[in-house]
Amino acid sequence: MGAANDREVLIVVDPQRDFCPGGALAVPQGDAIMPVVNRLARDFAHVILTQDWHPRGHASFASSHPGRQPFEEIEMPYGRQTLWPDHCVQGTDGAAFHPGLDIPHVELVIRKGYRGAIDSYSAFRENDHETPTGLAGYLRERGFERVTLCGLATDYCVLYSAIDARAAGFATAVALKACRGIDLDGSLAPALAAMREAGAVMLE
Ligand SMILES: [Zn+2]
Repeated sequence: MGAANDREVLIVVDPQRDFCPGGALAVPQGDAIMPVVNRLARDFAHVILTQDWHPRGHASFASSHPGRQPFEEIEMPYGRQTLWPDHCVQGTDGAAFHPGLDIPHVELVIRKGYRGAIDSYSAFRENDHETPTGLAGYLRERGFERVTLCGLATDYCVLYSAIDARAAGFATAVALKACRGIDLDGSLAPALAAMREAGAVMLE
């Protein structure tokens, strides 16, 4: 591997059972990305995974708000928050990585969403857009300058990770063939536009 490869990292966002068909918050065809992600990862010397990792009773779960249903929006102290079915609960099978994922050389797993009162879509910052996950500091200390993102879901965790990667000063690309979206109320098209607007390059 040349020096250039040591400046770039692949970040696979939330490739977990609960985000795949049969899971608690399934992204359509979410499982279909796994072989694509595995192949993509072979082109990178450095790979990081993120893992959505909620305590029971997390504030992003509709079940934590009496009378509310999944996919409704509510006002949280940090802004609007979509309510989700219970998903990726710490230590459960649903929170585990999809068994089709096969990337032995993953160097870091960064967990997010573990604070009970705040959700975290982005790999870099929680949904208050302030609380850092520590990933930007890790990438800087490792000397990475360029990140390529893929995973689930294009219009939520990949979207916010791409915007925050740009805000943190990293050259950013999104490998769309290794992503799938939820497209909740038509959220996919504006997500792609927002990532481009932020300066992220969309790779087919
Ligand atoms: Zn979550």
